[in-house]
Amino acid sequence: MTLQPIIGLEIHVQLKTKSKMFCGCSANYFGSEPNTHTCPVCLGLPGALPVANEEAIRRSIMVGLALNCDVNMNSHFDRKNYYYPDLPKGYQITQFYKPVVINGWIEIEVGDDMKRIRIREAHQEEDAAKSIHKANSTLVDFNKSGVPLLEIVTEPDMTNGHEAWLYATKIRQLIRYLGVSDCDMEKGSMRCEPTISLKLGVDKEGGLITTPLAEIKNIGSLKAVGKAVEFEIMRQTAEYEKTGELANEVNKTTRGWDAIKQETFLQREKEGAADYRYIPEQDIPPMEFTEEYIEEIRASLPELPDAKKKRFMEEYGLNDYDATILTSTRVKADWFEEACKAVVEMAKELGIEDLTKLYKDVTNWINTELKAYQKTHKVSFADLLAKPEHIAEISILLVEKKISGKIAKNVLAEVLETGKSPKTIVKEKELVQVSDEGEIQVVCQKVLDANPSQVGQYKKGKEGLLGFFVGQVMKETKGKANPKVVNDVLLKLLKG
Ligand code: ZN
Ligand code: MN
Repeated sequence: MTLQPIIGLEIHVQLKTKSKMFCGCSANYFGSEPNTHTCPVCLGLPGALPVANEEAIRRSIMVGLALNCDVNMNSHFDRKNYYYPDLPKGYQITQFYKPVVINGWIEIEVGDDMKRIRIREAHQEEDAAKSIHKANSTLVDFNKSGVPLLEIVTEPDMTNGHEAWLYATKIRQLIRYLGVSDCDMEKGSMRCEPTISLKLGVDKEGGLITTPLAEIKNIGSLKAVGKAVEFEIMRQTAEYEKTGELANEVNKTTRGWDAIKQETFLQREKEGAADYRYIPEQDIPPMEFTEEYIEEIRASLPELPDAKKKRFMEEYGLNDYDATILTSTRVKADWFEEACKAVVEMAKELGIEDLTKLYKDVTNWINTELKAYQKTHKVSFADLLAKPEHIAEISILLVEKKISGKIAKNVLAEVLETGKSPKTIVKEKELVQVSDEGEIQVVCQKVLDANPSQVGQYKKGKEGLLGFFVGQVMKETKGKANPKVVNDVLLKLLKG
């Protein structure tokens, strides 16, 4: 019997609004002294009245539209009743009956194919406070209490850890493009909870026969999302083979992820579909959106990653790989386009027509040299001393054959250290490439005269020595000689 993994994902994202979801407290609490961002509403004091944060709802609709969702034009809040020390009201304000957005999808790239993952809904809610467990006591910090959350729920459309990782990565990229959250899993502004079970077949009524469902919490990174799912598939397979246990009303479990042991562990068991006694929240009026409002939000959306990638391939002639890297973040994509804009202007002034070559050069500088530099020095694009115009300038100098590829790399290294323009560096260090045949011939002759035995060997048929002579000439000219000219001149001299 084949066990088919069925995986869904719930992702909580903290929306970076100024104030919290239902009160005026600052939502920018990270690193603050405990309990300094609080008021009667987010402390859950009796009689305090919540007021919904319009900006948070607007941001949730932005995410929903980017996820191809329908907006519930009449949406409202509900109370999810449960007791926990970090939830002093005894209920969380969330959405159950009418989530703000429903029925969406996004595509992930699995190998060479695009796979559609359906989004069941995304609902607006509030974050809980934070419990801090000490040796003999538990402290509660209410700074996080009431911070706006959007919970994005998929249909169980994924079948392995890789797909779950791809999906979560795509959601993070999309939300960062929208600028509505920093999606930092380490700081808890993005939390991923996969649900996993294995399908055995379908019963007479058409219901799925599956292994007991497990939900995994406390996953600290996107990579760990994939690993946790893979581990859980293995564990459930082994468990089923041993016990044959199937899902029922009461055997859903919640498991945690142990990043050190790289395995999931049992947190809570024997949970049925918990009865949260959802009731509409009476303290907040229902919401009603107009078409105009939704269309205004739609028009305000930035170009999204997939569309941007497609445009980069068409407009700049990039391949799939380069376009994927360049559009991975909005900052990088903007940086690339600024460099392209600069290169177009410079090319126009100089009458250079082959822009495709220049775009390719700009791409290569960003995707190789800059990427490597950023990785080793841990600098963001904003903090780079090299600016888009510098990359444009280097690309132009190369196309004009003013500098060689090797010199260009050295020039860029210096731009990255000093912030000086490539033109200035080339001028100051007299790095302009020498293409004058006469000038090069003098150096070539000198090199040949200094290496008579190698010349003899070459003439006896050891033609591989040409590279040695070229190397010597480049060394002599500090890399400034045009390698093509050097090659031609050497061949001519060695023939004679
Ligand atoms: Zn408050
Ligand atoms: Mn939730």
